[in-house]
Amino acid sequence: MLTTIEKIIFIALALISAGFTFHGFKTIVDSIRKGRSAPELKNVPMSLVKGAVTVLFQRTIFKARKGLSAIHMGLFFGLITYAFVNLFDVLEGLVPGFDLVYGGKHIPNAPTGLVNAFNLIADVMSMFLLVAIIVFFVRRFIVKDKALTFRENILLNPKVKAGAQNTDSLIVDIFVIMHVIAHVLSQAYRLTDGADPFMPFASFLNSIFGASQTGVHVAWWVSLGWVMFIIPYLSRSKHTHFFMSPINLGLAKQNPRGQLDAPAKVDPGAKFLHDLSWKRVLDSYACVQCNRCQDVCPANFYGRPLSPSALEVNKRYLLKEATFGSHPDLYLLPLTETVISPEAVWSCTTCYACVRVCPVGNEPMADIVDIRRRMLVDGAELDSGVQNALQSLATNGNWMSKGKRLRGRWAKEMEFPVKNATEEPVEHLWFVGDTASFDERVIPNTKMVARLFNQGGLDFGIMYQNESNAGNDVRRVGEEGLFEQLVEQNMEAFGKAQFKQIVTTDPHSFNTLKNEYPQFGGKFEVKHYTVTLLKLFEEGKLTIKNKLSHYKVTFHDPCYLGRYNGGFTAPRKLLELLGVEFVEMPRNCENSFCCGAGGGQIWMGKVAPGERPAENRIKEALSTFGESANAKTQLFVVTCPKDMVMYSDAVKTTGNEGRIEVRDMIQLVAEGVGVDA
Ligand code: SF4
Ligand code: SF4
Repeated sequence: MLTTIEKIIFIALALISAGFTFHGFKTIVDSIRKGRSAPELKNVPMSLVKGAVTVLFQRTIFKARKGLSAIHMGLFFGLITYAFVNLFDVLEGLVPGFDLVYGGKHIPNAPTGLVNAFNLIADVMSMFLLVAIIVFFVRRFIVKDKALTFRENILLNPKVKAGAQNTDSLIVDIFVIMHVIAHVLSQAYRLTDGADPFMPFASFLNSIFGASQTGVHVAWWVSLGWVMFIIPYLSRSKHTHFFMSPINLGLAKQNPRGQLDAPAKVDPGAKFLHDLSWKRVLDSYACVQCNRCQDVCPANFYGRPLSPSALEVNKRYLLKEATFGSHPDLYLLPLTETVISPEAVWSCTTCYACVRVCPVGNEPMADIVDIRRRMLVDGAELDSGVQNALQSLATNGNWMSKGKRLRGRWAKEMEFPVKNATEEPVEHLWFVGDTASFDERVIPNTKMVARLFNQGGLDFGIMYQNESNAGNDVRRVGEEGLFEQLVEQNMEAFGKAQFKQIVTTDPHSFNTLKNEYPQFGGKFEVKHYTVTLLKLFEEGKLTIKNKLSHYKVTFHDPCYLGRYNGGFTAPRKLLELLGVEFVEMPRNCENSFCCGAGGGQIWMGKVAPGERPAENRIKEALSTFGESANAKTQLFVVTCPKDMVMYSDAVKTTGNEGRIEVRDMIQLVAEGVGVDA
């Protein structure tokens, strides 16, 4: 189809485009390689195949925004189809007589059925692509969906603030619209014998514009010319994610969700961009900039200056300016000045919601913990509450400023002896945790757990003053040294004990004992108390005497039991056994909404203005229960001592006392079994 001179021009342009594309991706790879090492990945080829399959079937995008995700899926398949469309367009241009219209009847021995099928798919996908891109265009530029924006108090790269994301999107939207229309027009102009039933869209345009050789040439050049511009441009735009997201998913975290990567021994944590591991640098290239993570972030909801997506977007634009913009000096600016404000760093609850919802496997939370680590090493000023908690943890092994010997005081008040697991062998070593051991509001529940374990004939013991805080939140605050000290203390205590299994009250302790102690040689079987209790029921060692059908109940999945460790089933089975009327809140299981206490937030002295996540959650529960007159007592059931404290406060501060009560699961089980407080 093309003349010789056109072919020469095309090949020259294609080579220039390939050169710029190569340079673009080489620059990206070089910047990723500057990152620190990440934990070793196993079986990388197979992981990359899995990543590609995940992207191919769009497995990760439906975790949120289902309608838009369906349109995105259509867009994705449209673009995949267009990779082949462009290939055949090139062949039509370069190979004389190669023409797919009318089933490829001008090509000797062409598989007509196959060609017709391809033509039909390409034609339909062209229409779908146009519709999909117009939907996204309208969403961003006409409706100006707030979900794509950032609040004023969030640190943003100046280019992002000036609208660089919109410019990028506009260029790509215009490209797709022009490219698709030009391609279909080029096919329409080829239809010299009238309509092709397998190309309805092109045939329609042919009925308007007719056939034209000049039209074929012009449309072909517009369509393919755009491609030669856009491919190198993509490596310099936010749309790098087309190529980098499958790689990012393929190289995703292989260690458990609840295990933070250990910091570097020298200069731990991250002050500058390339103090982050290469994987965290790759995250920013894979980021779709969809803000799904911002939607689910409890700190963002609370009005704090934190947006996990802004963090990734800022990293991306910083990288772009430092590499393509030739400003390597930008690498020398601290992350707390370029990608996330110090206040935002200290707003994170480490709830993992951002990581869970991210369609491309990014871990903004891991960046935040790394930045905290370095801030602590550099002597950053800490919130006074956090400072006090850390000091107490260092001296007392608990954050509540209580003497070590007081840890087992509640046990001494029991009507039966509670074994000291460091002095006599037990089957179950009960790791009670700080809140359940010291907080007067929670101790009655702790005693109920003990009574139920005792009634169920569980051979258990606690470590009394030998137990120290497990360190989950200490590590997430960034105090790795203190975390290691606590691990050492507990490991020493475990060393004195003989036990088969650890059972915990607190999901935070559960998480770190199960997932992080193995990093220090502590490989134990660890269970949450809800699992242990369920087993006692299943084995017939505990039985329900009183059905609790007078309660209407909803259940809050704590982040560190649910989202981190998949502990969704046992609490719900217990509620079923108890015979309560159970209603599920809209945000449940993996999608549960954090209470706002994790990652050291519970220690923070200052309370920010605005509706707290726990208050919002209480409102969610009440709206789930509905306004209908119901004689049943409405309960908000928790399985974490911190939740007991957070939600009891939230019921008061939202003025909902009398409408809803917060109960620990153990209180319901005790009532069902008939064990007195
Ligand atoms: S871990 Fe939770 S609080 Fe922290 S950035 Fe992610 S969603 Fe926000
Ligand atoms: S980090 Fe993930 S969820 Fe957040 S904006 Fe980027 S792609 Fe979207």
